[in-house]
Amino acid sequence: MLNEALKLIKLAYEDGRTFLLEHEAKSLCMLYNIPTTLFKVAQDVDEALQAAREIGYPVVIKIISRDIIHKSDVGGVIVNIRSDEEAINACKIIENNVLRHNPNAKIDGFLVEKMAQPTTEVIVGMIKDPQFGPAIMFGLGGIFVEVLKDVSFRVVPLTRYDAEEMIKEIKAYPILKGIRGRPPADIEALINIILNVSKMSSEISEINQIDLNPIFTYPKGAITVDARIILEKRQL
Ligand code: ADP
Ligand code: MG
Repeated sequence: MLNEALKLIKLAYEDGRTFLLEHEAKSLCMLYNIPTTLFKVAQDVDEALQAAREIGYPVVIKIISRDIIHKSDVGGVIVNIRSDEEAINACKIIENNVLRHNPNAKIDGFLVEKMAQPTTEVIVGMIKDPQFGPAIMFGLGGIFVEVLKDVSFRVVPLTRYDAEEMIKEIKAYPILKGIRGRPPADIEALINIILNVSKMSSEISEINQIDLNPIFTYPKGAITVDARIILEKRQL
């Protein structure tokens, strides 16, 4: 497993990148038992259509480009695609949007994903502290992290107890328990994701930063919908 993970990292460096594309980051997640949406990589519109049919509607189509970090900022993500016609249109719209924002962007293809049912979103991240090394971050998605800074941190390696505490100490924890008709989140599933991100961070020293954002939470299970992994500036 570690070998396969390192192979993914090596390929990115050989391609002149110090970050993984979303599908590469998700493949790495899968190697560490972190659940992700089902996805397929397509080189062009025809392949995207084929992938959408194989995955089954509704799907999400996203731009794959080494020049685009925040895909939705440039109109590079279209959700809830329900037919062949919508899939073909989505690819064309995405390509236009991306080139309008960045005429020099290299379009590497389209990522076709199973559409996950929208729900409460959480984030699991890793940043490297110059003094303490990798630290894991947990919080609820969107404004909770960006505006309210309602997040918890622990230094790697984490115990199961650390992971559980991280989840329970954020102010928004009651939301995860389920309030006002919102379904509760599967806390065990979140603990496992946190522990597996911790494991990945301690085993692969080439990783500088991880951002699983968002992770969709359900009463049974949780699923990574977007993954971003930044590598060290040079291979170690
Ligand atoms: P960005 O690079 O802009 O962060 P994301 O991959 O996170 O792009 O997609 C933007 C948003 O689209 C996500 O925050 C999520 O709400 C929605 N989304 C993305 N992929 C899926 C999916 N497979 N199923 C359902 N919603 C998705
Ligand atoms: Mg995202």
